[in-house]
Amino acid sequence: MPETEHEPLSDFIREKVAEDLRTGKYDGRVVTRFPPEPNGYLHIGHAKAICLDFGIAEENKGVCHLRFDDTNPVKEDVEYVDSIIEDVHWLGFDWGEHLYYASDYFEQMYEGALKLIRDEKAYICELSPDAFKEYRGVPTRPGKASPGRSRSIEENLDLFQRMRGGEFKDGTYVLRARLDMESPNLHMRDPALYRIKHAHHHRTGDAWCLYPTYDFAHGFEDSIERVTHSLCTLEFEVHRPLYDWLLNALEVYRPEQTEFARLNLSYTVMSKRKMLELVEGGYVSGWDDPRLPTLCGLRRRGYTAASIRRFCRGVGITKVESLTDITLLEHHIKEELNRTAPRVMGVLDPLKVVIENYPEEQVEELEAVNNPEDASAGTRQIPFSRELYIEREDFREDANRKFYRLAPGREVRLRYAYFVTCTDVVKDADGTIREVRCSYDPATRGGDSPDGRRVKGTIHWVSAAQAGEVDVRLYDRLFSTERPEDVEADGDFKDSLNPDSLKIVRAKVEPAIVAMTPGTRCQFERKGYFCCDTKDSTPGQPVFNQIVPLRDSWGKQAQ
Ligand code: ATP
Ligand code: MG
Repeated sequence: MPETEHEPLSDFIREKVAEDLRTGKYDGRVVTRFPPEPNGYLHIGHAKAICLDFGIAEENKGVCHLRFDDTNPVKEDVEYVDSIIEDVHWLGFDWGEHLYYASDYFEQMYEGALKLIRDEKAYICELSPDAFKEYRGVPTRPGKASPGRSRSIEENLDLFQRMRGGEFKDGTYVLRARLDMESPNLHMRDPALYRIKHAHHHRTGDAWCLYPTYDFAHGFEDSIERVTHSLCTLEFEVHRPLYDWLLNALEVYRPEQTEFARLNLSYTVMSKRKMLELVEGGYVSGWDDPRLPTLCGLRRRGYTAASIRRFCRGVGITKVESLTDITLLEHHIKEELNRTAPRVMGVLDPLKVVIENYPEEQVEELEAVNNPEDASAGTRQIPFSRELYIEREDFREDANRKFYRLAPGREVRLRYAYFVTCTDVVKDADGTIREVRCSYDPATRGGDSPDGRRVKGTIHWVSAAQAGEVDVRLYDRLFSTERPEDVEADGDFKDSLNPDSLKIVRAKVEPAIVAMTPGTRCQFERKGYFCCDTKDSTPGQPVFNQIVPLRDSWGKQAQ
């Protein structure tokens, strides 16, 4: 399993699990679960929960269940179930035989609800949703009892059975816990346990028109599966008293719920509902749009599962809400790809260069290093000829002394090739630079100076005649603000979408790039890391997604 290759982790949850093992609280068992609701695709926030749930099980020779919390048929779909299975596997975790669906427990849950009614711990309430809220009141003042609270056991049983039978419309009745209408915790003021929903369920079909709420279902599911440590995010802390009360009232096995802070990432959103809005509104191309923080989006962008796991380890587990800088995620993939990704040369914004003293028909093969961090990656041959492309930004007609790249009269090194000196500039009628003329020094073949002459700049290039052309997608932050989810009451998070989050350019690239297959990652020297898109690439016509730019300052450029 993936995490064992690393140092052991420590945090307050792991300490608690260790303590429970020491005291024999659950007879030495460690059972966790990852319980997604199949109403959207998994995102990087879920990855944090997955690494924790599966990580703790694995570290303690326990098991982690993958359980679909599919109790709300209205928003759920098998498309989401399938994607979740794929994404958890891709992230490197396996639940073995422990794949569960909350919907498989519907009958058991219904029996549990009957028990609560018989024990006078639940009743049927006829308040409309608005009246329900009004009666519940506010934390500082006690709520008002529903008329249903005084209904007899027989009447409650009869109504509940008829609710199941399909006699009533949605919203007519709900089953509520008989708890405490004066509790300062609103979740304890007779919360709803069952709602009528005449909706088709992706697994149980039309067998039910009555569905349990999260509060009723979740603890029940944990109990049935004999989970030991039920780990969830902080927003469920206020639900914990209810979790405990219900399992007590049902007189069943009781796991323990522990909460941790969710992951929030800057310049993006971390909610399935908001992502769905972006997908449905066409603001992104789909759940796997490489700009989204979904696992399928990150995968398509070129992120590796290992880099995401390392990121989750780096973030750690605490009880304090915080905002994690997206550059931390980028750091982990850069660090990995620096070691593993082959270097290639691609020019994103081509400017023609003609080497005037280079023979017209000559093409020579020059040796280029595939990865300076990994000698075993070897070298390759790249063609060089009289006409080349360089990056438009690597030439300036009016260059100051800090500009170390190509400028009139200045000499630079073409990586792995020769020293060249700019001799002339050719412009179009409107003043746009059409091409740059240079002379080269044949004695500098390979990029080495024979006489100790130094040049400050080294730039990348491709030979024009042999260059391929590919589409490259350059990405910027999806949102222009750090916390797009913090909007005014009447505001819309979509207002801070970055209009320039995607730019597509036609790049001139060395032949090796054109031959790359979908999923291949590489570094375009001096530009960044790129991944051959798995969806839109065709043989001979690959499309590249920018994973992350290098943003190396010029002065730090090697060689
Ligand atoms: P969303 O807010 O995106 O809709 P959710 O919490 O409703 O997410 P679930 O399918 O219920 O989605 O989540 C499954 C598990 O993942 C839960 O245990 C939840 O606590 C955890 N989780 C969800 N979002 C995050 C996050 N940002 N950071 C850490 N854990 C998360
Ligand atoms: Mg949820």
